[in-house]
Amino acid sequence: MPYQLRNLPPSEKDYKQEFMKELTLKNPGETEFHQAVEEVVDSVIPFILENPKYYHGKILERLVEPDRIISFRVCWEDDKGEIQVNKGFRVQFNNAIGPYKGGLRFHPSVSQSVLKFLGFEQIFKNSLTTLPLGGGKGGSDFDPKGKSNREIMRFCQSYMTELSKHIGENTDIPAGDIGVGAREVSYLYGQYKRLNNKFVGVLTGKGIEYGGSKIRTEATGYGLIYFCQNVLSHIGEDFNGKECIISGSGNVAQFASKKLIELGAKVITLSDSTGFIHVPEGLSSEHLKFVSELKLERKGLAEFSKKFGHEFIPGKKPWHIKADLAFPCATQNEITEDDAITMVNNGVRGVFEGANMPTTAQATKIFLDNKLLFGPGKAANAGGVAISGLEMTQNSMRMSWNEQDVDEKLKQIMAEIHRSCVKYGEEKDFVNYVKGANIAGFIKVAEAMLAYGVY
Ligand code: NDP
Repeated sequence: MPYQLRNLPPSEKDYKQEFMKELTLKNPGETEFHQAVEEVVDSVIPFILENPKYYHGKILERLVEPDRIISFRVCWEDDKGEIQVNKGFRVQFNNAIGPYKGGLRFHPSVSQSVLKFLGFEQIFKNSLTTLPLGGGKGGSDFDPKGKSNREIMRFCQSYMTELSKHIGENTDIPAGDIGVGAREVSYLYGQYKRLNNKFVGVLTGKGIEYGGSKIRTEATGYGLIYFCQNVLSHIGEDFNGKECIISGSGNVAQFASKKLIELGAKVITLSDSTGFIHVPEGLSSEHLKFVSELKLERKGLAEFSKKFGHEFIPGKKPWHIKADLAFPCATQNEITEDDAITMVNNGVRGVFEGANMPTTAQATKIFLDNKLLFGPGKAANAGGVAISGLEMTQNSMRMSWNEQDVDEKLKQIMAEIHRSCVKYGEEKDFVNYVKGANIAGFIKVAEAMLAYGVY
């Protein structure tokens, strides 16, 4: 049944129940998407009911329906000459405040539901950055693991052959995500350029030599730590001597670790899809260099243990290790309710999401009920897309800013995101950063949508 016109706003509980029921009916089986929407709805519905113009404008109902979803076949030939077929997607979710912007994920778990959850989150995240960026996300169920460089190149070229019809420097500007790093972005960009005979900023995360921005590679990890630094300083604390557990060992985890070490914290774990390493005395820059090389070769963390002799715990996540702060930087739903209970009992004081939606809804509730400092991904990991936005600016201006300038801008943006979260999330003796991020992200997009009229 379509959403009905309601003259009088219902109660908060009725609105939420009715809204989630209809969302689930209209988007069957898309559990990740339902989860991402429910988290936003929890914070935003009370605000909408206090400001009925958003209710009568049906902003929430319109926001959860993507502008369009492009779904296509990606055929490519492997090194044995065999034809392979993958699914390709681009979800163009909302361009109310700027062109669609969001990464591409290449991973076997990619589905329409996963990309809709990521694209939906991206709308709010991009709005929080203060930059004119809409929300989108794309990817494929292609698994880059175990593929040769040539296979990855042929896949990227085939994927871009279709995607190029739908993107543009003022329309939709993809970037990297899981499984899409500098190498993949370069193959994708090379193919776009070849097909369109244009050198424009249609992708971000490009190599420095061909239009990339300084600090883009580091931006998500650094931004995460700058955001956390703002949270700590809000309560009069800093990183000095704090023990940190991190999951993941890819782009975000590596640069978050680097910045934490620089700021005086101790990083005692990293993980990957095979298990985690535990280094009680804290990782060194030599350790990080090794992890970075290991991951470029797409090898597992057991190799780290072989090289340095530190403990590798196969098949497990690091959440039972005692620490002050936790930074999930691998993938969605990696902190469950049980993990959250263990972390609270272990005295963890803050959790900052480097990954997108790494904490389940039940685990988030436990963190908030126990008044942990909890930085949701849409605020805490927005540094990456923010510098992507600045890469677009530099491309348009045909200029390249230096490292210090970009780093300074990143710090300013993360501080501004923190301020917005506090503005809308401050409660009696606690800042609810989830509520703050959702409402602050929502307002700008909602105002633009109201201004455009019914569409
Ligand atoms: P990478 O591909 O560089 O690294 C991902 C890491 O997570 C790897 O260590 C990988 O292990 C691990 N991982 C992936 N899937 C699983 C799984 N199912 N179980 C356990 N471990 C897993 O990706 P990024 O660092 O770029 O991204 C990490 C997270 O950060 C994602 O949620 C992404 O959406 C989010 N993010 C990234 C941004 C960016 O700029 N890159 C921006 C904002 C958010 P293995 O090495 O074994 O594959």
